Amino acid sequence: MRPTTRALIGASILLLCGATQAQEKVLNLYSSRHYDTDEALYTNFTKTTGIRVNRIELGDEALLERLRNEGANSPADVLLIVDAARLHAAEQGGLFAPVKSAYLDKRIPADLRSPAGHWYAFSSRARIIVVAKDSVPVKDVQTYEDLAAPRNRGRVCTRPGSHPYMLSLVAAVAAHDGEAQAEAWARATVANMARPPRGGDTDQIRAVASGECAIALTNSYYFVRLMRSKKPEDREVLDKVVAIWPNQATWGTHVNISGGGMVRTAPNKESAVKFLEYLASDEAQAYFANGNNEWPVVKSAVAKNPELESLGTFKADRLPIMEIATRTPLAQKIVDRAGWR
Ligand code: FE
Repeated sequence: MRPTTRALIGASILLLCGATQAQEKVLNLYSSRHYDTDEALYTNFTKTTGIRVNRIELGDEALLERLRNEGANSPADVLLIVDAARLHAAEQGGLFAPVKSAYLDKRIPADLRSPAGHWYAFSSRARIIVVAKDSVPVKDVQTYEDLAAPRNRGRVCTRPGSHPYMLSLVAAVAAHDGEAQAEAWARATVANMARPPRGGDTDQIRAVASGECAIALTNSYYFVRLMRSKKPEDREVLDKVVAIWPNQATWGTHVNISGGGMVRTAPNKESAVKFLEYLASDEAQAYFANGNNEWPVVKSAVAKNPELESLGTFKADRLPIMEIATRTPLAQKIVDRAGWR
């Protein structure tokens, strides 16, 4: 080999290395999730695809605010948030780009994604009722509608009506019982409150345990989180409350989702689609669901979570999540008119 050839080869290897470095694939993830199992989730994605994950982890509202402020200059590729109400609002606000993926369409049930491919559900949770073991017979609260029953006057605690978890539930009630009925229900529920709405779901469970209220609503994973807690004060809370699957004899327990999609201005669109597809794999589904004590949405995925499983099976509302999501603006009007602040 002549020296010049060797030099040329050397130079081209250097060039190749430079090119590889410049083209290192990345994914910029904006996520409201932050759990211990996430580390394995992201490491495995990078191992399989070579795509490095940069994460921005903030609360749902802070993430959306940041995304809106960054506008077209946002580095975000994928946005992960919780609740159909929020996903729908983000879709309506034009934050998502449509994704075309036969894999995602095959893996994620059709009623758990936006028809436009703007967002996909990756885990699900149920909105359950918690009652005080010693003061409320469970027969008094078998349905969401029972929150409004005269016998439950002064017993009910909820978070503010405008919170997405409440809006989605009100939307589900409106879808099943009609708008007028839902509004009457919302008014009567507000009239039954033990205290003005405040706090998060865990605060509602604690308020039931402390005797401040006797009936409250919570997402299932907050309850399971207490079940998995080793803290004595959390064990005490659980000793005083009973969890109920609402509406088992009627339309089923309201189930909501966490999910996400590709950001409209995503600089790394290929990485974004790969990541969303990865989240629908059996492996990622298990990590994702277990991180927050939720259920996987992909049928073949198995998340081994004994505490969650100990709650047993239940009849879930069969209404497609879009039917709930599209009614959240109506739900906002209902809670406003009912004074559910
Ligand atoms: Fe939550």
